[in-house]
Amino acid sequence: MTWPPLLRLQEALGPEAELVIVGGAVRDEQLGRPHADWDLATRLLPQAVMARAQAAGLKVIPTGLQHGTVTVILEERPVEVTTFRSDGDYLDGRRPETVRLGVSLVEDLSRRDFTINAMALPVGGGDLVDPFGGQADLAVRLIRAVGDPLQRFAEDGLRPLRACRFAAQLGFEVEAATLAAIPERLEVARKVAVERVFTELDKLLRSLEPQRGLVLLAESGLLDLWLPELRPMLGCGQNRHHAHDVWRHTLEVVGFIPAEPALRWAALLHDAGKPGVRSVGADGEVHFYGHETRSLEIAETIFERLKVSHALRKSAMALIRHHGTHPTEAWGEAACRRFLVRLEAECLSLESWAAFRLADLRAKGRDWEVRQVEHAALMARLGSILAARPPLSVRALALDGAALMRLTGRPGGPWLGALQKRLLEAVLDDPQGNTPERLAELVQREPPSD
Ligand code: ATP
Ligand code: MG
Repeated sequence: MTWPPLLRLQEALGPEAELVIVGGAVRDEQLGRPHADWDLATRLLPQAVMARAQAAGLKVIPTGLQHGTVTVILEERPVEVTTFRSDGDYLDGRRPETVRLGVSLVEDLSRRDFTINAMALPVGGGDLVDPFGGQADLAVRLIRAVGDPLQRFAEDGLRPLRACRFAAQLGFEVEAATLAAIPERLEVARKVAVERVFTELDKLLRSLEPQRGLVLLAESGLLDLWLPELRPMLGCGQNRHHAHDVWRHTLEVVGFIPAEPALRWAALLHDAGKPGVRSVGADGEVHFYGHETRSLEIAETIFERLKVSHALRKSAMALIRHHGTHPTEAWGEAACRRFLVRLEAECLSLESWAAFRLADLRAKGRDWEVRQVEHAALMARLGSILAARPPLSVRALALDGAALMRLTGRPGGPWLGALQKRLLEAVLDDPQGNTPERLAELVQREPPSD
């Protein structure tokens, strides 16, 4: 296993560099999983890495010299080369106070979080360096801390969350002592910067088995640090349409939906408002009136806390807002068109909305076959409405703003937007009416007021 350009770097640095591949690439290659990047480690100090790589004509960026890291560009790909290092004391549960460069490879591996992440493979060929039994843990599919988990989680509070994330990505179990250490170290985990937390939560959600990761968060107590609003979902019973409680239903939706960030985050949060609005009717039936609004409030709070990007927030919120909209056969074509307008206005694609709806229906755990057929019929209907290319925004009106100003002989102003809205409403009812003549007629029949 290697990538030929790495050999070129190995040649440039010389045999005393002891250049090795470390971290995720070693783990993922052994599992036959694709990996995004190569992380390399070397005995050489960063200044020597820079000098030797540059002398061989390679482009080098001094990314983090004080931590021993240099980025070398190999065939236009950035590759991080880090000097073997050990971490000094951790005083704040976030970062080591100092790092010591120039230690042995085994010492470098011993600072790493989990045994499966603490292996090294020499670039030039040679045996795997695996002092903590990473290969054995890969074979039995276990996430196990390197050394004493209580101590390792006291050093860096992000590691417990990383354990859950790797379990979700790889479909592994967390080894018993490692798992048992998490609840003991929640106060350290609480101090971790939210940006790091979000990165891990996002990877967990977009993983192969997000349900596994979420269950671990709930059982270990990590959930209560960053997503406490979700706790009431556990055990919150639903009505006859559902086989599962709100939490289990949520886990299923997250698992069924494609692994795109907005879809997965929306899936996690779409029913978070249910426990807060749960009511039981006179007939004993459970209701969740207005839960979408409450879910949106909770999502906003969580996105704010985790400093989630505007783009992700917007898409996820649009999905949550519309997850309860169920166009039925009783809806007329105009109502369907108005629904498509609402999606378009929020930049929510019909595909995303449909993917969400399908996962949500499936996760009810009841009547799936019937629901699936109904969903397919609805999509066929919406598809044929769209295929007729009806005007769905004021931009699609047969008379644009300039034409409307000419027609009325008035300069632009608030009246124009109001008129365009009125015309759009008219053509949503009757798409055939979207011609310059028919729109002009409408304007003349009822001239715009101020
Ligand atoms: P991926 O890149 O697929 O998310 P990875 O294992 O490469 O997974 P990175 O966050 O890129 O994870 O870190 C690279 C390596 O650095 C890890 O494999 C691990 O050896 C070490 N590492 C990363 N974060 C920590 C940490 N918080 N504590 C200890 N070691 C860590
Ligand atoms: Mg990595």
